[in-house]
Amino acid sequence: MSGGPATGHAVIDKSEIETLIQGLWKSGYTVVGPTIAQSAIVIDEIKSAADLPIGWTDLQEGGSYRLKKRDDQAYFGYAVGPHSWKKYLFPARLTLYTIKKNAAELEIIAPDPAPRYAFLGVRGCDLRAIEVQDRTFLQGAYVDPHYKARREQALVIAVNCAQAASTCFCTSMGTGPRARGGYDLALTEFADRFLVEVGSERGQGVLASLASRPAVQADLVLADNQARATAESMTRTLDVSDMPGLFYENLDHPRWDQVAERCLSCTNCTMVCPTCFCHSVDDVPDLAGETSQRVRVWDSCFNPEFSHVAGGNTRPQIRERYRQWLTHKLASWVDQFGVSGCVGCGRCITWCPVGIDLTEETAAIRGRLEA
Ligand code: SF4
Ligand code: SF4
Repeated sequence: MSGGPATGHAVIDKSEIETLIQGLWKSGYTVVGPTIAQSAIVIDEIKSAADLPIGWTDLQEGGSYRLKKRDDQAYFGYAVGPHSWKKYLFPARLTLYTIKKNAAELEIIAPDPAPRYAFLGVRGCDLRAIEVQDRTFLQGAYVDPHYKARREQALVIAVNCAQAASTCFCTSMGTGPRARGGYDLALTEFADRFLVEVGSERGQGVLASLASRPAVQADLVLADNQARATAESMTRTLDVSDMPGLFYENLDHPRWDQVAERCLSCTNCTMVCPTCFCHSVDDVPDLAGETSQRVRVWDSCFNPEFSHVAGGNTRPQIRERYRQWLTHKLASWVDQFGVSGCVGCGRCITWCPVGIDLTEETAAIRGRLEA
């Protein structure tokens, strides 16, 4: 977690990103950040600045994602891809422990220690998503030790967005396009340099390892203008007034039937969502019966089996499963965790194979679209 209060600005040349990455690896961090794979900008291990998606951007629409060459060499000139940082803090598949059969007793083997990650390129919406998952995994009576170990060690380097995808609506959710806390360092990219904002003492220490110079007023003004232009370019909005009541009062709205005719119950929206946390736990024995692993895997409220309890399935129809997802995300999440479960990243819109858009569905429930 970001280590404590510290503030200040500095400027680094673009070449210092390589120094930053190499220094973090030398300090024992596993550096993860944006890179191109499988025709998308994904999050993976970054060994050098050359791994970043330099000169590439993303074109996103409901149900559509394409890479496109930029006409400049921006390091972070894209919005968000299919992956989020939950891939590392709350892995899709995690061995909780292994049981081994010895001669006279069973031995319980703990998992390997959690890696120490440095996240490079975390957007404002995703900073909020991490904060939302913190509430799920770290607050209350039952703290998740696996999440806690990863989260406490993680160094967070944010990047302010210089462009929005057509699917973004972070301004509606108050999460971006500028990082709003929760980082160790925050970068704003200009053509030839980065403005660096310090968010913690740990971030201050990392900045001290780079060749930097003091920021001047013109740098701060340029960053402000960039954030304003990005916010003003955003075309999608989500009206979050009257939450959570809006959904509780519309459990029988005809729109749920209409969206169920399109929804494939494929789970894509929950897999790409940076705040969704549903999971199941499986026991995976080996063929010889010598060891068995207890494994936690991502699950989804769109899976029919997910709601199967003694006595039957509480949500057998897609209508009920979509309603559950959206009502939880935007309404009951607020009751449960004190914040919305949506941060406005737009991933569920882009990666829905039939382009279902929660901003549109919410407007329809409000009666602002034809039902
Ligand atoms: S519900 Fe959709 S827009 Fe909201 S945080 Fe999840 S993926 Fe992003
Ligand atoms: S809303 Fe879209 S992404 Fe989500 S389950 Fe339905 S078809 Fe899949």
